[in-house]
Amino acid sequence: MNDAIVRVPKPYNEPVFAYAPGSSERASVEAELDRMAGEEIEIPCIIGGQRVKTGRLEPIVMPHNHGHVLARFHVAGPGEVERAIAAALDAKREWEAMSWQSRVAVFLRAAELLAGPYRMTLNAATMLGQSKTCHQAEIDAACELIDFWRFNCAYAEGLYAQQPSSPPGMWNMVELRPLEGYVFALTPFNFTAIAANLPTAPALMGNTAVWKPSESQTLAAYYTALLLEEAGLPPGVVNFIPGFGPELAGPALEHPSFGGLHFTGSTQVFRSLWQRVGQNLDRYRSYPRLVGETGGKDFIVAHASADDDALITAIVRGGYEYQGQKCSAVSRVYVAASVWQRIEEKLVDTIASIAMGDVRDYRNFMAAVIKRAAFDRHVAAIEAARTASGVRIAAGGETDASIGWFVRPTLLVVDDPGYQTMKEELFGPIVTLHVYPDQKYSDVLEIVDQTSPYGLTGAVFARERGAIDQAMAALRHSAGNFYINDKPTGAVVGQQPFGGARASGTDDKAGSPWNLLRFAAPRTIKETFVPPTDYRYSFMSDS
Ligand code: NAD
Repeated sequence: MNDAIVRVPKPYNEPVFAYAPGSSERASVEAELDRMAGEEIEIPCIIGGQRVKTGRLEPIVMPHNHGHVLARFHVAGPGEVERAIAAALDAKREWEAMSWQSRVAVFLRAAELLAGPYRMTLNAATMLGQSKTCHQAEIDAACELIDFWRFNCAYAEGLYAQQPSSPPGMWNMVELRPLEGYVFALTPFNFTAIAANLPTAPALMGNTAVWKPSESQTLAAYYTALLLEEAGLPPGVVNFIPGFGPELAGPALEHPSFGGLHFTGSTQVFRSLWQRVGQNLDRYRSYPRLVGETGGKDFIVAHASADDDALITAIVRGGYEYQGQKCSAVSRVYVAASVWQRIEEKLVDTIASIAMGDVRDYRNFMAAVIKRAAFDRHVAAIEAARTASGVRIAAGGETDASIGWFVRPTLLVVDDPGYQTMKEELFGPIVTLHVYPDQKYSDVLEIVDQTSPYGLTGAVFARERGAIDQAMAALRHSAGNFYINDKPTGAVVGQQPFGGARASGTDDKAGSPWNLLRFAAPRTIKETFVPPTDYRYSFMSDS
């Protein structure tokens, strides 16, 4: 449609369903869980709209019941990467030529499909495949993803509307072209919303993508790919190639038309990809855009004036929800001694009371960690803590992998604020806590800033305004998302744009205009209505 200046509908955050006993949403999700748990599907690659079966099948199991196979996926290899790149480049011509309003319409339709008929499918797949409780699945697979799509559409409109000034006699314009080539989206296991956003945010801006989802998130990713098809996303715009990162990342980064990387995952992997891109630089037609959101060692610092119950709740929700497997999860806590004296018993009792188990038992607050390797990593950290001097396991410490990969929510209390688990990301339900003398608040802020290489999220708990201001200043570069008297998890699209710097990534803030801009190449156009016809300036004349 040419003859209208249209406006994108005003975005709003998708309301979160409560799933209370007897509610209609509870009945719908249960029906979908039963259906998925009762079948074993086969997941192909989807390249240029074609179903591609490689014959190399890999099982997808429930982390909380690892004997139960939900699906088997066809593992993509280097050949499928090549086909996916070719399909992305092929689809690019028509997709980037389409009006931006039409592209927006596809993603607004995707948001509505997810808010309606696909909601329980993505929620159930996320619950069973990634071991999320219904609440954790709802805020991720349904609400956050709907929000990404709705808000990004409005942000794209805002970016396209930003135009330079035009003095009399000329018209200046800027168009935001997509990047040349294709975008490689390499996505993590822990958020269905992030996994879907990484290929689709660039696609909204006219790019086409090769999407390699995490092997531990492939079930929900597959249903996302089907939803996008139904929303009208043309074949080849997002090519779905499930498989293993080390096998596929190399070929995906070698092609001369590689235009950008949209990554979320661990710091180590992002660094290795960046190095690889650097080694390949001479091959590429453009300088690829590298956007990566990576690990965290997220903190809470509690001043002597902190509210006890608010602090306990923030540690428990921020540290243990989704088994601590959120990049924003609290994993190191610094508590003033006077506060610790008051809260220790209640905090330990609260952690001990947390119910954990199958996600279909709605009384559970926690479920299993994602896979065997994660479970082993947590067991090793807990065993090391048992024998380390100056370390006490104040709560939890039990693990059991017989049915699912279960790690009890664990609290380590350490004398040394530089102890290993205060510095390194474990990505599990293990929180390490250090008690500091009340009068050493300034020193502890310095320690918080210097202890870990990350800079993702953090929170201060205090009632004294001066203490809050001091933390805001001292921790300015310690966290890209900073919270005052709130847990450092649960960022909402449109409200708290998310991302951090230092070793935590490029801080391009997923679900924001800044992120979309990374996948655009601006072109400036100047049109002069009556161009000069004589090269001489008036100052050159004789009189
Ligand atoms: P991961 O780095 O193991 O995997 C991410 C993706 O990279 C997956 O698709 C995986 O298959 C692939 N991959 C793994 N090893 C690879 C290799 N050697 N070469 C190429 N590709 C490889 O991360 P994960 O376990 O899926 O997710 C957890 C990590 O993600 C944590 O570090 C967490 O902090 C981070 N994360 C960050 C954010 C954020 O916004 N900052 C959000 C979610 C998760």
